[in-house]
Amino acid sequence: MSKPATLYNRLALIGVGLIGSSIARAARAQCAVGSIVATARSPQTRKRVAELGLADQVVETNAAVVEGADLVILCIPVGACGAVAKEIGPHLAAGATVSDVGSVKGSIIRDMGPYLPKTVHFVPAHPVAGTEYSGPDAGFAELFVNRWCILTPPDGADAKAVEKLNAFWRLLGANVETMAADHHDLVLAITSHLPHLIAYTIVGTADEMQNVTRSEVLKFSAGGFRDFTRIAASDPTMWRDVFLANKDAVLEMLGRFNEDISLLTKAIRNGDGKALFAHFVRTRAIRQGIVDIGQDSPAPDFGRPHPGLPHSALPKPYASDD
Ligand code: NAP
Repeated sequence: MSKPATLYNRLALIGVGLIGSSIARAARAQCAVGSIVATARSPQTRKRVAELGLADQVVETNAAVVEGADLVILCIPVGACGAVAKEIGPHLAAGATVSDVGSVKGSIIRDMGPYLPKTVHFVPAHPVAGTEYSGPDAGFAELFVNRWCILTPPDGADAKAVEKLNAFWRLLGANVETMAADHHDLVLAITSHLPHLIAYTIVGTADEMQNVTRSEVLKFSAGGFRDFTRIAASDPTMWRDVFLANKDAVLEMLGRFNEDISLLTKAIRNGDGKALFAHFVRTRAIRQGIVDIGQDSPAPDFGRPHPGLPHSALPKPYASDD
């Protein structure tokens, strides 16, 4: 039986955590690439990637991993991408596509662009899918299924290279949309970055309260707090970088949020039940819209099937992780 045609001959992954290892698993499952070569910053992660058999080859350096690769994807924190681009620039094969998975796109183009030779195609990407878990063990092949992947090609990007990367992500199960990097950053600031900031804040506030003991916070966490704790468990390095890299858009959304919470505060203070009720009716309709377009399940606790793992071990993906 003949092997299915692959989109790229050699995929190089720089960083093999949740996202990098999910790409490796999905690309293999879908025969999207001929071979996978990977590297990670620490010897421990490289060892684990080899043990898990996530790549055909695991190499030590960023310069070595990109040699001969026709698709290179950086799966590392946003703040590290500029330095890595500088390192790999001279070693990239002519005609290769260079991409990333960072949760902020304007800073990626600003930080990586200047180091990439004109002979390669730079097509930044952001798969809007994730969990609060990190590392090569956390990934799974189905992570991107029915999730969005947003491509933000800079002006003048090669249309064929963009279309090929679009096909790659569709093969991994994602729905793909293309938009300008600054628009991406504004949209994600409200759908992902601000919700994470609120979760980090509320969990910290609860922890600092003197008159509510930690055990009571845990015991009654089903009252809404539990979902915030899950989001607030997301990787500290990744999220530090997101807020530093998307400062302007996050501050813009935070300003709007503060205005709106002041209005709700006033309604509570004034006993204005009509205003509160009208607001909650509007937000319930938004939630229904998200369920209707298949971006979340109406079930109280969302978790997609994860072949091969007992339910208790399942990572819990959520709709607009980042
Ligand atoms: P992760 O599981 O923590 O893995 C991060 C990887 O990056 C590891 O291989 C780590 O190497 C490497 N790394 C960390 N700091 C580095 C540095 N300074 N230089 C080089 N490599 C470094 O993270 P992840 O969740 O896969 O996230 C990776 C990227 O995906 C981030 O840019 C994030 O914004 C984006 N993203 C994340 C999600 C999500 O929900 N998690 C969703 C969409 C997009 P070691 O293990 O050796 O330290």
